[in-house]
Amino acid sequence: MIVIVNPEIEKTSAEYRQLLDYLSNLPNIQIREHEEEGSQQRLTELYLVGDTAALSMDEIATMPGVDKVVRISKEYRILGRHKNDTRSTHFEYNGVHFGQDNLNIFAGLCAVDNPEHVEMMMKALKENGQSCSRMGAYKPRSNPYSFQGHGKSCLNYVFELAGKYDIKVIAMEVTHESHIDEISEALEKTGQPTGVMLQIGTRNTQNFELLKACGRQHVFPVLLKRGFGITLEESINAAEYLASEGNRNVIFALRGMKSHFGDPHRNMVDFSHVPVVKRLTRMPVCIDPSHSVGIRVDSPDKIQDIQHATAQGVIAGANMILVDFHPVPGKALVDGPQALTMDELPYFIEDVMITREAYEKRFDLAQKFYAE
Ligand code: PEP
Ligand code: MN
Repeated sequence: MIVIVNPEIEKTSAEYRQLLDYLSNLPNIQIREHEEEGSQQRLTELYLVGDTAALSMDEIATMPGVDKVVRISKEYRILGRHKNDTRSTHFEYNGVHFGQDNLNIFAGLCAVDNPEHVEMMMKALKENGQSCSRMGAYKPRSNPYSFQGHGKSCLNYVFELAGKYDIKVIAMEVTHESHIDEISEALEKTGQPTGVMLQIGTRNTQNFELLKACGRQHVFPVLLKRGFGITLEESINAAEYLASEGNRNVIFALRGMKSHFGDPHRNMVDFSHVPVVKRLTRMPVCIDPSHSVGIRVDSPDKIQDIQHATAQGVIAGANMILVDFHPVPGKALVDGPQALTMDELPYFIEDVMITREAYEKRFDLAQKFYAE
């Protein structure tokens, strides 16, 4: 059960102390306090853990200082969507809105190779009105002899170039807790020219120590990829690890699942699960068409499979697209075969907008239909 405290109540007030006294005297109940720092106000939530079945929501709701009481019906206590739960499904980071109600495109390099390519990418993004990107510095590779990413050594120029071209948020995978410090230090050193969204890759979805470390820091939002060989429930529980450590600014990414059915694509595209994740949780949902499809191929209609997969996610209400581009895919050090080219960027964005507009029309139609 979650007790949402009236935002006007000071934590030093008598009312707040009275409320805490009352709740802590409930038998077999522990209280966990959570602070939500919004752009407008600070929200205090008290999580009642333990024997909550017998508690009366109505009685608690009449206590002074209580704004609302929500009974948690299922798992995913913090990120889950519960009955009568009207808590927000969005957050702001570095001036960018991330929610279940909008769409952001993160086009960029799977792996940073050199400053020239990073600059070409950032410049193209700015020219096409984009303010987010993806840049891989720490690459988890299946083969120990493959290029592992430039790591810390590329961070300064990546962040400086992002700042030069007004890129506000960069999705960057971290594979170890120490990478968070390296990113913070580089941002500090370069004067905070951009923001970073920490990405946890599919190979680390259940790396619980990494999840806890990313959850303990409350500066950077986190993009968590669905594990490619575990259940959806297990992956959402992994997201809940981040929130249980205090970081609720979490985006959940679908990136295709491993299958052994001779897929024509690198992974089995799972974008029909966009509305499922939005129904079960309050997280914005990202799709990664590059790592799902994994190859540049098209059909007789000339539309690439990566674009078709993107459209399938967007028409189902996806909130973020993580997509690989590269100025010279043949020379990319990682995942060149799935990268789109720079001249395809405006075309890709325009194609996305067609499906986003169609989704918005579908949304309006559904509201109208059920309002009647
Ligand atoms: C990536 O986005 O670069 C990546 C490695 O993705 P995934 O973890 O989904 O394989
Ligand atoms: Mn990749």
